[in-house]
Amino acid sequence: MDAVVGDLELGDVLIDDGVIVEVGPLVSAAGAEVIDCAGKIVLPGFVNSHHHMFQTALRNYWSDALDMDYFLQSRTGEDALFHQYAPDDVYWGELGGALENLAAGTTTVVDTSQCSYTPEHTDAALEGIRRSGIRAVFSYSPVFGDHEVDDRYGHPDDIRRLLGVAGSDLIRLALGYHVDEDLFRLAKDLVLPVFAHVNDASFGRLLEEFEEDGLLGAHLTYIHCLGLDASTWQAIARTGGKVSASCIAEQTLAMGPPALNDAVDHGVTVGLGTDAVSIGPVDFFSQMRAAYALHRGGRAGVASSRGADVGPDGRLLSPRDILEMATIGGARAAQVDDLVGSLTPGKRADVLVLNGRALNAGPVLHAPGAVLNMDTSNVETVLVDGRTVKADGRLVGVDVRHVVDRLTESAEGLLARAGARSVVLTSCRAD
Ligand SMILES: [Zn+2]
Repeated sequence: MDAVVGDLELGDVLIDDGVIVEVGPLVSAAGAEVIDCAGKIVLPGFVNSHHHMFQTALRNYWSDALDMDYFLQSRTGEDALFHQYAPDDVYWGELGGALENLAAGTTTVVDTSQCSYTPEHTDAALEGIRRSGIRAVFSYSPVFGDHEVDDRYGHPDDIRRLLGVAGSDLIRLALGYHVDEDLFRLAKDLVLPVFAHVNDASFGRLLEEFEEDGLLGAHLTYIHCLGLDASTWQAIARTGGKVSASCIAEQTLAMGPPALNDAVDHGVTVGLGTDAVSIGPVDFFSQMRAAYALHRGGRAGVASSRGADVGPDGRLLSPRDILEMATIGGARAAQVDDLVGSLTPGKRADVLVLNGRALNAGPVLHAPGAVLNMDTSNVETVLVDGRTVKADGRLVGVDVRHVVDRLTESAEGLLARAGARSVVLTSCRAD
C-alpha cells in the first residue's frame, strides 16, 4: 500500500522499536527475531474509520432494525437502552469491541463514543481501549435523547481535561458526532479532527453553509454521506474532507444509496468503517466484500459495455482499490495516515499476517482477490506498534471466555434496566 515500496511478491519487513525500518525483497538483520511468513500475505493492519465500540454487549440486537427503530430504542425516552449504561458497561463494551477488532486484523479503530453520560463513562471507555492494546482515535461525542442529563455531564468541556490526560502513543483524541457549528468551531480552536455523521442531504447542505464560514477542512471526516447533492460533494472535495463508508450497517438500516461511488467520482478519499456491532459485523473481510459488490452493482450496465468510461480515472475499482480503502484510505479517513495505513519505512509497525494456505485461500493466484475473499480465520498474526497482539491465530494474554461472560452480564443488565424485550427468536421491530 506504499507507492514507493510497491507490492512485493516476496519480501521482508524489518521492525525496530515499534517502527518499520525497511521493506524489501530480501532484508538482512543479524540477530533479529523472525516471524516466518512463508505462504502468508503481509499487509498493514486494517483501519476501521467508524465504530461505536461501547455497544458490543448489544451485538446484533438491531440486526433487523430500520434507522428509526435503532434511534428510538437506543436513545429516546428514559428507558432507552443507551441511557442504561453504567461506566462498567462502557468499559467491557469498549474492551470487547477492541479485542474483536484486533482478532479480525483491524489495528486502528475510530471510536465515536456516544456514551459520555459522565466523565466516568468517558474514562471507562478510554480504559477499555487502553487495556486492549489497539490503536484508536477516540472521537469524544455528545449523548442524545430526551432523558434527564446527569449533573456531571461534561460535554463538550470535558475534552479539555481529556487532552491533558487521555492522549498516548496509541490513542489520539478527536471530536464527533454530528454536523454542529459549535463543535466544528471548538475542533478548530483545539486543532482536533472531527468525525461527523452526515446521514442525509440536509446535513450536507449544512456543510455547504459551514464552508462559507471557513469551518471545513482536511481535518474533517464525514460518516455515511448518503444521498448528498453534487454541490455538497464538491464542497467536501474542495476542502480536502474524507469520507467513511459503513456499507453493511447503512444498507441494513436501509438508509439509502451508498456513498461509495459518489465519493470516488468526486475524487474524495474513502475509508471503510463498520458502525456498531448491534447492527452488523465488524470484520473487514465482510466490509470489503460489501463495498466491492455495492460499487460494482452501482456501475451495472455501464460497466459491461463502456468500462473505460467508468469512474474519474477511467476504470472500475479493483479488489486492490478496495484493499486500499481498508488500509491507507482508512488511515486517511481516520486522520492517522502519518502513523499507519501502509508498510512504509518510518511508520509505526501495525502489521497483519494472513494465512494464504488455508482451504479458503489457497492457491493464491491473485493476492488482493484472495484477501477480499478471506475471513477472520485467516488472521494469523497481528502487530500493533511492533507488539504482537495475536499470534498463531490467538489473541495474546486474553481470556476470551471471561470477556464474553462480562459482556453477557452487561447485556442482561442493560436489557433488564431498559425493560427491553428479548429478541432472541423474535425481532426488535415486532410490537
Ligand atoms: Zn455511527
